[in-house]
Amino acid sequence: MFRITAIPLAALFLSACATVPAQTGPSAFSGAVSAADPRAQAAGEEILTKGGSATDAAIAVMLALNVVEPQSSGIGGGGFLVRGEADGDVTTYDGRETAPAGATPDWFLDEEGGVPPFMVSALSGLSVGVPGNIALAAKAHDAHGKLAWPELFAPAIRLAREGFLINPRLNNSLSSAKNRAAFGETGRALFFDASGEPLSVGTRVRNEELARTLERIANEGPESFYSGKLAQELAATVAAATPRPGAMTRGDISAYKAKQRDAVCTPYREYRICSMGPPTSGGVAVQQILGQLERFDLAALGADNPVTWHLFLESQRLAYADRELYLADSDFVQVPVEGLIAEDYLAQRSMLMSKDRSMATAEAGQPRGASMTLADGDEPEEKGTSHLAVVDRDGTMVSYTSTIEGAFGSGLMVGGFYLNNELTDFSRSPEVGGKPVANRVEGGKRPRSSMSPTVVYDPQGDPFMVVGAAGGSTIPVQTARSIIAAIDFGLDAEASLGLPFTMAFGDQILLEEGTWLEEAAEAFRSLGHAELLVRPAPVKGGALLYRQGQWQSARDPRLASQLEMP
Ligand code: GLU
Repeated sequence: MFRITAIPLAALFLSACATVPAQTGPSAFSGAVSAADPRAQAAGEEILTKGGSATDAAIAVMLALNVVEPQSSGIGGGGFLVRGEADGDVTTYDGRETAPAGATPDWFLDEEGGVPPFMVSALSGLSVGVPGNIALAAKAHDAHGKLAWPELFAPAIRLAREGFLINPRLNNSLSSAKNRAAFGETGRALFFDASGEPLSVGTRVRNEELARTLERIANEGPESFYSGKLAQELAATVAAATPRPGAMTRGDISAYKAKQRDAVCTPYREYRICSMGPPTSGGVAVQQILGQLERFDLAALGADNPVTWHLFLESQRLAYADRELYLADSDFVQVPVEGLIAEDYLAQRSMLMSKDRSMATAEAGQPRGASMTLADGDEPEEKGTSHLAVVDRDGTMVSYTSTIEGAFGSGLMVGGFYLNNELTDFSRSPEVGGKPVANRVEGGKRPRSSMSPTVVYDPQGDPFMVVGAAGGSTIPVQTARSIIAAIDFGLDAEASLGLPFTMAFGDQILLEEGTWLEEAAEAFRSLGHAELLVRPAPVKGGALLYRQGQWQSARDPRLASQLEMP
């Protein structure tokens, strides 16, 4: 049974940071929201107060994020939504972008058959997949919406029309992108001044074109995104920037379908973890990382112990080796999901881990159902994306990660929003050593993701946590770390997200700069981790967590200074 808790929404609006204040009476509970930007979070809270469902609120947050965090996500991109009801019923929605029908495995190769520099691919029409977020929203709303479709758009339209203030985060993103030749002219007119400098922190931006686009989709319905004027503009913009035949057509756009898929669920210490399956690798990776750690008593080892994080790194190595080999769009290649998360398989993989010594490199395993004819893919680094989490008055949890892939996606803009560069999440090399890569480009296929929107049920089967992250390939590691923090160390939502971050990248490990991990470098070295990178962590998680009779809402504390206004 879901436990009724009460969080006065007025208090949520007032709370600048993260954690949700104390409860009043049960009747006051409307739900809780976590989003990377407080203005988008307020959009979700507004929808919940109007009686909207968690799905309604999540859609409103996704749309508002498009306005205030244009560099990260929006209707020009895609996402994954995991919905878990209070009684434990979980379903997932796949709104991942698709490659145009004309795309082929050599899509990203240059004339000599080589793989060009990453940004050459990213800032081209070749990288744009047919956007999936509006189709995902429509499918989820048809099944679980309580408010009318146009109502979900109202907060985002208001933000776009009345304007929003540039925060330090957007200003930084604009500064990093300002010299990109391919950065769209419309974007320049919107976000830069006459001398080509990014608008300063605190400047109000009104995006009237986006307001009109959102109004059209609100009033004419989701089909208006996939046909008519908008689709025509989208196809024309992408084709003009695509230097080879096979560019996105209006037919590709009108053929797009969001998909409902089965959730991928596994136990972890009596809790039930449910996440997203292929085409994302995120859910499987989170569950492998956790499952392989289960035989270790992390609570006894403690959160301040290098051995805990050494084991965490080892578990990542095993999970990422499998991810590279097996994970891709399961509608195109056979992905042995069940074998990869089977208890006996994870127990056997776990035996490769030792408390005393790093394995340094990991090979993929042989789960049941695996085809061994594949080769490892290449892995570009990404940034962008936003994770959002909602729980409503019925205790339904929605975990939604939305992305346009890199900062400002492809840099191409239509209707006031950026078009994704998601197709760079494919392996740009179609084969390695004569073997095909599972995640190679194919017409109509969805590129492998790392996104891992997740919901967690406690040992009694009640809703416990709604969690996920942004940050490219770091996403499953962030999600697994937050779950361990909440379950093994009993931390609150914000502390779970704020734990120092460490990740294995091949033979190297990243230790988050400025945290105790940096001081513990010698301990990691003596455990056999030879190459240490001390760097800021490119992480951005979000979570809702049920503790002591109330839902706590948190966003990554690393974001705090980037959201402050002067
Ligand atoms: N495109 C990435 C993915 O789907 C996410 C990018 C990011 O978070 O920076 O996994």
